[in-house]
Amino acid sequence: MLICPECLSENDDKHEYCQTCGSKLKNEYSIIKNKFKGINILAVFIGTVIWIVLFIEIAAPHLINTNANIVITASTLIIIQIISSAVAGYIEKSGYKNTAINGGILAFIPTLITGFYRDLNITIILFLIFLISGIIGGIIGGLLENKLK
Ligand SMILES: [Zn+2]
Repeated sequence: MLICPECLSENDDKHEYCQTCGSKLKNEYSIIKNKFKGINILAVFIGTVIWIVLFIEIAAPHLINTNANIVITASTLIIIQIISSAVAGYIEKSGYKNTAINGGILAFIPTLITGFYRDLNITIILFLIFLISGIIGGIIGGLLENKLK
């Protein structure tokens, strides 16, 4: 079964062109690839490296210290998230939607690193915090890129 990338109608495998709208059919893989084409691997990679470096240098000492203030620890994590996703957004130059996507994608690794040993609810909350900070950072990165151009 082939799904038309233009009108999303289903077509038999034997057809090369969509029977509904006449567009050239692609396989599901290329449709999925199309959906995620806004993701910039380089931007996400560099953003992740920056996140890990900042995390180890700044946030990890707070997390190890059980007496650390939770508000300071959380703010530190959010600031790190915004900085690293701003870098990812800055590298990705194809519009604010994509800078936001690439910033938001940076939420996954921080959630894994900080949330895996806690319960599911906390992991979901952490993910949402990282996601929102990441999107904000991505847009900030896009704004900076535009200004400095
Ligand atoms: Zn079609």
